Amino acid sequence: MIIKEVGDKIWVMDVGRKETKKTCPVCFGNLNVTVILGDDTEVVCKCQYCVQGFGEPRGYVTEYIWKEAAKQEVITNVRVENDSNGMKVEYRAGCYVYYSDTVFETEEDALSACKIRSKGLKNQEDERNIRMQKSNIKNYSYQAGRHIKAANDSLRQAEYHKKLAAICKSRSRNKLDKEEE
Ligand SMILES: [Zn+2]
Repeated sequence: MIIKEVGDKIWVMDVGRKETKKTCPVCFGNLNVTVILGDDTEVVCKCQYCVQGFGEPRGYVTEYIWKEAAKQEVITNVRVENDSNGMKVEYRAGCYVYYSDTVFETEEDALSACKIRSKGLKNQEDERNIRMQKSNIKNYSYQAGRHIKAANDSLRQAEYHKKLAAICKSRSRNKLDKEEE
């Protein structure tokens, strides 16, 4: 390993991300998702994919564009550590720290390493999004089930209370009839 010196120029990866807004890939900006049950009943649920925190659906999601660039730095400090694990070289350029395995001789090398890294980060993000979409779909059938159960429970309760109210009414009517006699 060639150890660079203070004042030497090095090429490093310029990793970073830029935020972009995209239409929600689940509700497509409608804020609602329709679940069709086995008997063709349609249940409309609030989109959970574009909700931020405990808020309302927004109709859009935030995605990141990973930067693919290289930049040149001038070394201002070199630290070499040599122990049983091997040699580790740490370069400083102002307030930035770079390890020897992320330092390159040419712009092309730094750029191609940055592209590989960006791709890896993008894949990780895509996998996370797919996992979230899948768990969201599970969530909708659960939500639909919960709403229907609540609706059925309310109907049953309504029927029960209606019957009780009817009994009360007929009882009070009986009472009135008797008083009139
Ligand atoms: Zn949505």
